Amino acid sequence: MRNRIEIYDTTLRDGTQGEAINFSVADKLQIATMLDELGVDFIEGGWPGSNPRDVAFFEEARSLKLSRARVAAFGATRRRGLSCAQDPSIQALISAGTPVVTIFGKTWELHVQDALRISPKDNLDLIEDSVRYLSERADLVIYDAEHFFDGYRANQEYAIDTLRAAVAGGAQRIVLCDTNGGSLPDEVTDATRVVAEQIEVPLGIHCHNDGELAVANTLAAVTAGVTHVQGTINGYGERCGNANLCSVIPNLELKLGKEVIGRERLGRLRETASLVSEIANLSLQSSAAFVGDSAFAHKGGVHVAAVERNPRTYEHIPPESVGNRRRVLVSDLSGRGNLVAKARELNIDLNSEQAVLQELKRLEHAGFEFEAAEASFELLVNRVHNSSEPYFELISFRVIDQHQGSEMPMSEATVKIRVGDHEEHSAASGNGPVNALDRALHRGLAKFYPSLEKVHLVDYKVRVLQSPLSGSASLVRVLITSSDGTTKWATVGVSANIVEASWRALVDSVEYKLMKDGVSPIGASVEEADKKPALV
Ligand SMILES: [Zn+2]
Repeated sequence: MRNRIEIYDTTLRDGTQGEAINFSVADKLQIATMLDELGVDFIEGGWPGSNPRDVAFFEEARSLKLSRARVAAFGATRRRGLSCAQDPSIQALISAGTPVVTIFGKTWELHVQDALRISPKDNLDLIEDSVRYLSERADLVIYDAEHFFDGYRANQEYAIDTLRAAVAGGAQRIVLCDTNGGSLPDEVTDATRVVAEQIEVPLGIHCHNDGELAVANTLAAVTAGVTHVQGTINGYGERCGNANLCSVIPNLELKLGKEVIGRERLGRLRETASLVSEIANLSLQSSAAFVGDSAFAHKGGVHVAAVERNPRTYEHIPPESVGNRRRVLVSDLSGRGNLVAKARELNIDLNSEQAVLQELKRLEHAGFEFEAAEASFELLVNRVHNSSEPYFELISFRVIDQHQGSEMPMSEATVKIRVGDHEEHSAASGNGPVNALDRALHRGLAKFYPSLEKVHLVDYKVRVLQSPLSGSASLVRVLITSSDGTTKWATVGVSANIVEASWRALVDSVEYKLMKDGVSPIGASVEEADKKPALV
């Protein structure tokens, strides 16, 4: 198994050091299960010595049924002046009861002298002693050499001596860390080669992304001989983040021909990236390599035509291999080719291309943009093709904002709609006008179309546009993303009025959901309107 590379995920520990990341114990358990399904070898769950939440996680993690991954607890070498038996954070590692324990120690003399304030020799003793104590009590001990590359640059011999101390203590993996994230790939290659000649224990790599090189440095280390790779999903982590496993894994598997999680599990990559981002409450970057929405999106007409003939012309890997998909972007720049390709991608029957193209151009001229709002595009095609009855008609809506004293402002919306012959009047409050309007609309429609009850807003974006018609009045374009718990879709609305633009995007969101569910509009007959709608 010379080509086998172990994946050590630290999303739940180093990833949570990222500025906007906060996981509850339940979140962490859910992510751990997903990581196991993805096929990683190790899941670093947290630092039990540093916070009670991580202690709770390890307690609960014992009952997780993981098929492949082993859970690791993370901590530091013992404090000077304390024995391992006296050191509370070493004891917390033992109490976590994980099969794997990872500890980090100092490699760089600068840190030994200025942070630990001990002699270089004492540091070596402390590393060996801590690793030995843990090795006698855990199945496997991984040693993270903090600031390895900086330490190596400052004093190569001492840096390697710290690794030897860990090996002497019984460490079964020695991980070279680019803690400050400033190393260059060539430096990583050279240092790793030297270490590989002198250390017999399997080597690992742990990179940070401060020079935007965490993935490149990780691959460089693998090429130089490491067989254990650490990183996080979506590259979450302190400062600029950690090595992004969503890029590292496919590069190892598809480009370097390594055996990592296997081709079949690689197909789960995009889903994992997207679920973890959802739990983190951060949107997955559209331009993220391999897993982002734009990773296989083609806009230029020439590119689209070529990709239609042979995808390899503009795609470095087949999108399906990482669970992503090819997308064709339609805009007023695009010609017939993009439109046809897009329709094929969305499985839309396009029998009046010219009319659709004309409508598309008209709307884009008015400020609409469909590249990020595929649901609205599908509705557009549907409206051009079918003159079917609407699901409902708006009679009127009204939104009131109230701001009293120091209280948070509140909004109230009333919506009057016609569904078939029935006139429905609903009202709701919310923390803002769009929220109130969204709730009032759903409340009004839910009794006719029950499947809408599950639909909620997950993202809302506003952009101010310069009106193409007048220099002074500006338009706003609202892009909303909705979800019913299983799928997500995006719709767009444009108006000079932000509430009106939001309303249009909300209406598209509702209609799209009903269209996708195959729900028939409630017709204009009193008996029909009072019945429960037929779900197809
Ligand atoms: Zn780190």
